[in-house]
Amino acid sequence: MPNTSPELTCDVAIIGAGTAGLAAERNARRNGARTLLIDETFSGTTCASVGCMPSKLLIAAAHAAHAVRQASVFGIAAEPKIDGDAVMARVQRERDAFVAGVCDSLDKLPDGVKVQARAHFIDATTLRLDDGRTVTAKAIVIATGSYPNIPDTFDAVRDRVLTNETIFELPTLPGSVGVIGAGPIGLELAQALVRLGVETMVFDQSPGLAALKDEKVSAALHTILAKELPIHLEMKLKAEPDSDGVRLSWSGEQSGSRRFDYLLVATGRPPRLKDLGLETTGITLDDHGTPVFDRTTMQCGDAPIFIAGDADHDRTVLGEASAEGMIAGRNAASFPDVTPGPRMVPLAIMFTDPSVAVIGDITPDDQDGIVIGEASYEDQGRAKVMARNAGLIRFYAEAGTGRLTGATMAAPGVEHSAHLIAWAIQQGRTATDLLDMPFYHPTLEEGLKPALRAICKAVSAPVPADRDDGFTAGA
Ligand SMILES: Cc1cc2nc3c(=O)[nH]c(=O)nc-3n(C[C@H](O)[C@H](O)[C@H](O)COP(=O)(O)OP(=O)(O)OC[C@H]3O[C@@H](n4cnc5c(N)ncnc54)[C@H](O)[C@@H]3O)c2cc1C
Repeated sequence: MPNTSPELTCDVAIIGAGTAGLAAERNARRNGARTLLIDETFSGTTCASVGCMPSKLLIAAAHAAHAVRQASVFGIAAEPKIDGDAVMARVQRERDAFVAGVCDSLDKLPDGVKVQARAHFIDATTLRLDDGRTVTAKAIVIATGSYPNIPDTFDAVRDRVLTNETIFELPTLPGSVGVIGAGPIGLELAQALVRLGVETMVFDQSPGLAALKDEKVSAALHTILAKELPIHLEMKLKAEPDSDGVRLSWSGEQSGSRRFDYLLVATGRPPRLKDLGLETTGITLDDHGTPVFDRTTMQCGDAPIFIAGDADHDRTVLGEASAEGMIAGRNAASFPDVTPGPRMVPLAIMFTDPSVAVIGDITPDDQDGIVIGEASYEDQGRAKVMARNAGLIRFYAEAGTGRLTGATMAAPGVEHSAHLIAWAIQQGRTATDLLDMPFYHPTLEEGLKPALRAICKAVSAPVPADRDDGFTAGA
């Protein structure tokens, strides 16, 4: 039941009931704090309503269409018949069920914890709500998430601009979409749309894909995705209204112009911090106006203010929002006694086909003392069986020890194997350690072996002999 008391006091106030805010509230309460969870709408997390889940639902439909189209490779003639209304209806139905699950858990919060309002700081321990009330807290957690950035290039065609907040609301699949932004959100949705029969092109002003720091993997991914999806990088764009649609003109190495029904703008999600009154709190802000904070405690300087989730613009994925919320909530409850919490090896996955994973903090090209082992999936046995033999993986390891520090992978099945690699890195394993563990045959995981062997060779570590299973060719 929402709290309607005129003046509010608590130990810990949390602004934002997304994944990070919910984790922070739960952990503050578990640690004995009287909490208030403040949200403008309580309409479900970004993940459930406009993020991870609806995007994966659209991708699941696209996989089904693609599998039908690919069936001819195996001697099975089939053509997908795509019912755009039915595709979007399923996305919305299942999405609504995920949102209902979040709303159920919000309903189970203790009486008086929920406060429905927009909040901003008036000093480091006081918030003003848009209904005129004031909240006084011993500590405050900022968990306000992020929002889709729409550059002013698209001002003239705003009524034809979609973002992740509107695309899943379409009643049917559009005929054509220009996707602006070759980041993870843009690429996931662009590939899904093209596989669902929507004429789709991708444009970006920068040279790489998905902000991958490993240029070799980025280039390999570009080659694979471009087979089904035109991708124009390093382009300048101009957008004008054109008979119930948008005329997009691009210039760069190539230039061109065409009409789209819609533009999907996926040019980044800045933290939602504007109008939050951060300047009244005395905390230090970086050049973009984001609080400077400690990644292990989530505290902003030595203030009674903590930050978590997309709001801190650090690791903007769900698992990190939740982990950061837990640390922020616990420390807000125990403030001024603040202790570091455990941080995981960074793991980010893009659900394109092939999937892409980035593990660890290491950037391959600007680090001394790092060795790299790579493997192509073009000749990988199980991938060939499935006619999915394309991709490149690169592992990074300490030159002295062979201890794995990170990986960038664009290959079939890496959304799964990336977890195993991240777990191994978190446990401090070497390439030799991994090669000494079981690999079943024939699997996509066997494709990791050549990259691990290359690391062993580069650091002069023992290369465990392949088990004599008689089926190692193409592994
Ligand atoms: C299309 C898309 C796909 C994604 N796919 C994945 C994926 O596959 N895997 C993955 O790990 N991550 C994915 N992400 C990222 C993931 O969804 C986010 O990292 C995560 O949801 C962030 O959670 P949060 O708690 O920080 O923010 P949110 O869930 O956005 O919560 C912020 C809350 O704060 C409230 N709020 C803001 N300002 C105020 C204020 N002043 N007063 C009161 N309330 C306020 C908002 O109403 C909102 O409820 C995806 C994101 C998008 C957009």
